[in-house]
Amino acid sequence: MFALTFDDGPGPSTSALLDVLAAEGVQATFFLLGRNVEEAPWCGDPARARAIAQRALKDGHVLGNHSYSHFRPDRWREFAADVRRGEAVLRLLRPPPIPFRLPYGIQRVEGAFPLGTTGEQLDPRLAVVASMGLGHQHWTSDFDDWTLGASDGPALSSRMVAHVSLCQANGLDAVLDLHDSGTGSGFGYERPATVEGVKLFLQEARKRGWKSFTVPQP
Ligand SMILES: [Zn+2]
Repeated sequence: MFALTFDDGPGPSTSALLDVLAAEGVQATFFLLGRNVEEAPWCGDPARARAIAQRALKDGHVLGNHSYSHFRPDRWREFAADVRRGEAVLRLLRPPPIPFRLPYGIQRVEGAFPLGTTGEQLDPRLAVVASMGLGHQHWTSDFDDWTLGASDGPALSSRMVAHVSLCQANGLDAVLDLHDSGTGSGFGYERPATVEGVKLFLQEARKRGWKSFTVPQP
C-alpha cells in the first residue's frame, strides 16, 4: 500500500493535482501552509485558495498543518508561534486533531536550544511540537520534486514506482512526500512534473493492484 502526501500548498498546481487524484479515486494528505491559504501570495486571491482547500476536503483528502510561514529550522525561536498560527488557519477548515508535518522535515541543527540543551542534536523543533501535543508526520521517501523540470514527470513516476516496490519487498507500506507548491518567489510554484508524475504513478499502481491509504491512519 502507498500513501501520497503533498506539502507547501495550496498553489498554482493544486487544482490540477486534485483532478488527477479524483480521476483515479485516490485520497491523499495535504500539509498546507497557513500563509498560502490566508494570504495566498501565490495568486493574490485568498478566497480562491480557501476554495481549493475546501474542494480537497470535499474530495475526501486529509488536510494537515505545515506551519504558517515555513521558517527554516534555525528560526526555532519563532517556530511555536508559527505552528499555532498555521493550526488556527487549518481549524477554520476542519476540526482538530490536525496532523502536522515539520517544514523541511527532521533536520540536524547546530546551536543553543531551548530546554537547556546545546550542541548538535536531533531537530529541536521536535521538542517544541511535542510540548504542543503534536507529532511530526514523516515519510518513507522524499522525491525532491521541487528540483524537477516540466518534462520530468515520467522519471518521477518511475522513482515512485521503484520506491513502493522496495517498501513492498521489505514488508512496508510507502509514504511518499511530494510538493504541490513552494515557499520562495511569491510562495507558489507550478509543479507540472509532480502532477504528471502522480498521474503516471497512479496508472501504474492501478495496474499492479496497489491500494492507497491516508496518513495519519484514522
Ligand atoms: Zn515544506
